[in-house]
Amino acid sequence: MNNPKIPRPRNAERERRALRDKKRAKIIAVCILTAAILAVWGLIVFFWITLVDPTHPAETEAPLPETTAAPVETTSPADRETETVWLAAEDIHRGSLILVSTLLSRAYVFPENDADLLSLYGNKNGNYRISSSALMLHKDAAAAFGEMADACYTETGMRDYQITQAYRTKEEQTEIYDSYLEIYGAEEGARLAAAPGYSEHHSGYAVDLNVFTREGVSYSLGSASEVDPAYGWIYEHAADYGFVVRYPADKTAVTGITNEPWHFRYVGRGHAAYMTENDLTLEEYIALLYKYPQDGEHLHFTAGGVDYEVFSLAATGEKTAAEIPVGADYTVSGDNDDGFIVTIYKNAK
Ligand SMILES: [Zn+2]
Repeated sequence: MNNPKIPRPRNAERERRALRDKKRAKIIAVCILTAAILAVWGLIVFFWITLVDPTHPAETEAPLPETTAAPVETTSPADRETETVWLAAEDIHRGSLILVSTLLSRAYVFPENDADLLSLYGNKNGNYRISSSALMLHKDAAAAFGEMADACYTETGMRDYQITQAYRTKEEQTEIYDSYLEIYGAEEGARLAAAPGYSEHHSGYAVDLNVFTREGVSYSLGSASEVDPAYGWIYEHAADYGFVVRYPADKTAVTGITNEPWHFRYVGRGHAAYMTENDLTLEEYIALLYKYPQDGEHLHFTAGGVDYEVFSLAATGEKTAAEIPVGADYTVSGDNDDGFIVTIYKNAK
């Protein structure tokens, strides 16, 4: 049988194939080597950029890993939502915490309009008296004094406290000052009476009191409780209504004013309670509040069933930005120097 012959490849063709296979292997080897070098080089560059080079923060280059976890909620007090309230420069000289002091050279700056001053005559209740129909007081202080007198009458049946001095103009203080210099001499007179502009009575937040009985007898407030213990009621309760004894005997060095047990100052309810509890004059209290700035830790305390949060902030020219929690009840007072005090309050739980 004649089987068809399968042609056998010739030697030359076999050699060509072998040569071609060799070439392919070489190309593949070069490619693998190149890829390997590139990969190693890439790794070195990556590690240099991400780990070694400090000028090139890793987080800007490395893609953020995808995550399915919910973002962490941060609800600490520091992150609470606030709104900016702009405070005007002239308001540094307004509010129940303004500090007027000869010792600290803080004269009272009279506002252009005295709309907040209230005539006590015709606007007071029947549970305290006034020595003159001309007496004026800041409306907040007048309202608080009226409530205090009501409470005193309810508790003791006594309504003999009498306001003898309240708001004073610069002219009135000039008259008083000059008469003191005349009576007591220059040095002693200047020690006993505040120079015009430096009396706390200018603010409308201060009152001088005595006792004037229904029988027409008057006693100085400091000694009246020796006559009747009921007359000492105010020293126990003034702070509950926002008043403090402004010039105590043991704080003369701090206030620059001698003992005046008849002179009360309205500073606001929470503040009066804190000052009385901690035996602080207004000078000392304001100095303390400077240690609680807006962007730091705030002062927290509870008084009369109300939670208070207080902080100070330095004025920044014509407008100062106070950051107030959204929806909060608050008041702002100037310090009569170069800053403000913010008081946030809410009923205690
Ligand atoms: Zn006084």
